[in-house]
Amino acid sequence: MGLEEYRGVYVFAQQVDNELSGIAFELLGKAKDLAKDLDTDVTAVLVGSDVKGLVDDLAKYGADKVIVVDDPELKEYRTEPYTHALASVINEYKPEIMLVGATAIGRDLGPRVSARVQTGLTADCTVLEIGDFPLRAIPGKEQKHNQLLMTRPAFGGNTIATIACPDNRPQMATVRPGVMQKIDPIEGAKAEVIEYNPGFTPDNKYVEIMDIVKSVTDTVDIMDAKILVSGGRGVGEEGFGMLKELAEVLGGEVSCSRAVVDNGWQPRDIQVGQTGKTVRPNVYFAIGISGAIQHVAGMEESDIIVAINKDETAPIFDVADYGIVGDLNKIVPALTEKLRAV
Ligand code: FAD
Repeated sequence: MGLEEYRGVYVFAQQVDNELSGIAFELLGKAKDLAKDLDTDVTAVLVGSDVKGLVDDLAKYGADKVIVVDDPELKEYRTEPYTHALASVINEYKPEIMLVGATAIGRDLGPRVSARVQTGLTADCTVLEIGDFPLRAIPGKEQKHNQLLMTRPAFGGNTIATIACPDNRPQMATVRPGVMQKIDPIEGAKAEVIEYNPGFTPDNKYVEIMDIVKSVTDTVDIMDAKILVSGGRGVGEEGFGMLKELAEVLGGEVSCSRAVVDNGWQPRDIQVGQTGKTVRPNVYFAIGISGAIQHVAGMEESDIIVAINKDETAPIFDVADYGIVGDLNKIVPALTEKLRAV
């Protein structure tokens, strides 16, 4: 079968407990752009148990078609049945592009599926576009058009790699949550629904879930916060109490740099950056954070960035909209005090 027979941009529509994850909508937004460039359509692949009620939401956010794989075996995410489901959909419908979120589930699922359907996978992409590959004409090397160019940080974020998969299909990528934008909802949009049952054998059911323990937290996921008060090594372990007070007054959440997590001062789920989360709040306070490239990669899309640092040459000021040079131990309490009085 020739590569040209593979058509369409497909998105794995991740759901957990029958609720679509934000990444599903973000991927649909990107898929719409790619599909436009390729003159094709967008298909969401919805895998789970009793999930048909989610189809309209997928249509509203850009899916032209939804392939539903619905089976009681798929109630909770398990590697093998989900791999079987998605790989079977790919073998049956032959998408040109298959996008999966780089979530905990997607990082597990994407590589397995790509191995099973014998194609490549570029993990943790931050940019996707259609273009020529190789990017420049190289003598003796055929330049292929309309390829998916997948960009991701490499070598610890010190370089940016653009990768293509010119000889296999589908072109597969996992995509960082929080990087792509969902589209404005199209009210009343309807998608064509295709129900597909790949059949499940005992082989693809072999893990049994005995119990699920959910972590309970009273804080908002930093990826959903509108205001983030982010602390770095300069804040020190004790200083996070002061940051929490500022966040409270602002109605925001506290996040941090990796140095803070590595020191064991704060949990990993509030780390911003290349190996943490990508955030896009309305306001991001970077307090006692130097602005290393790996940190900036996770917050530079914030609407307004306010940096507080005693070192006026700190790179964080290069991306900041507002900068305060001085000792955070004096500035943060003063700011909290002023805001409290407003
Ligand atoms: P520092 O770089 O030590 O900066 C502390 C800052 O605080 C300094 O600028 C200092 O001037 C200021 N300061 C100190 N005292 C005060 C004071 N009293 N008042 C005001 N300012 C003060 N980092 C991340 O954050 N997220 C990631 O996801 C991430 N991923 C990485 C992945 C790889 C593969 C690698 C190699 C690194 C990664 N890093 C990441 C680490 C990154 O390179 C930096 O080491 C880290 O971001 C530094 O954290 P920091 O800015 O808090 O600390």
